Amino acid sequence: MVVQNICVNYGAFRALDGVSIEVAPGSITGVIGPNGSGKTTLINAITGIQAASGTIRLDGQVLGRRSVPRRAELGVARTFQAIRLFQSMSILDNIMLGAHRLMRAGLFESVLRTPRSHRETAQRQARAEVLMSVFGLRLLPRMHQLAVNLSYANRRRVEICRAFMAEPLLLLLDEPMAGMNPFETQELSEQLPELQKLVPTSILLVEHKMDVINALCSHVYVLDHGVCIIEGDPRTVQSDPAVVEAYLGVE
Ligand code: ADP
Ligand code: MG
Repeated sequence: MVVQNICVNYGAFRALDGVSIEVAPGSITGVIGPNGSGKTTLINAITGIQAASGTIRLDGQVLGRRSVPRRAELGVARTFQAIRLFQSMSILDNIMLGAHRLMRAGLFESVLRTPRSHRETAQRQARAEVLMSVFGLRLLPRMHQLAVNLSYANRRRVEICRAFMAEPLLLLLDEPMAGMNPFETQELSEQLPELQKLVPTSILLVEHKMDVINALCSHVYVLDHGVCIIEGDPRTVQSDPAVVEAYLGVE
């Protein structure tokens, strides 16, 4: 995915001011920056829920003026900084919903329970179970429980499985480790590459935790006040004085 010269205004306030980034196919590319620097706004602009000027290209397609659902059909999936699940649906159903764009049998066929819709549902469930199994026994034994009863970290895992279910070309993760303890964080940074092996996709990872960025990303962009102040490999970027001042503060 290539994003060129993205600008976003909230009224008179310019939240993104000419940001350009590239996510190489199959990579995990990082975006870091202090609170309010425009990271979530960037994700919102790419998914289309936030209007933006500039150019966004995914696999040769120009996303610019396309609607949110159309961008999802073209292969953009995301997770939210504040988790969004259907609380009164089971874990399994929440995850299977992610595959919506891949289903061939329409609503009509699934209401009629045609052989094709049965077959697709069975395949989809098998796929969801493979994704859940990456998280060991955290989700699998609970897959028929309602999402509302889950721990915070498990909700995060369900949301991530749902995003991978869509088999996206581009996956946007907005602080997936937020609220996880160090052990859970470490686990997830090992599990993300495993999920990416099952579902080859490019990932744009917005994350506060530097050790996660170091472990997963070969390239990182640093946002500050709506502009990208530096990009490069994580270790070089972190030792840059401008980054130390903007992001790491008192180190
Ligand atoms: P980050 O994700 O890096 O913490 P955001 O992209 O959420 O930052 O926000 C960037 C800036 O835009 C912040 O100053 C925030 O207050 C402002 N902002 C975000 N969303 C809105 C909105 N819907 N209306 C007005 N200002 C917003
Ligand atoms: Mg944010």
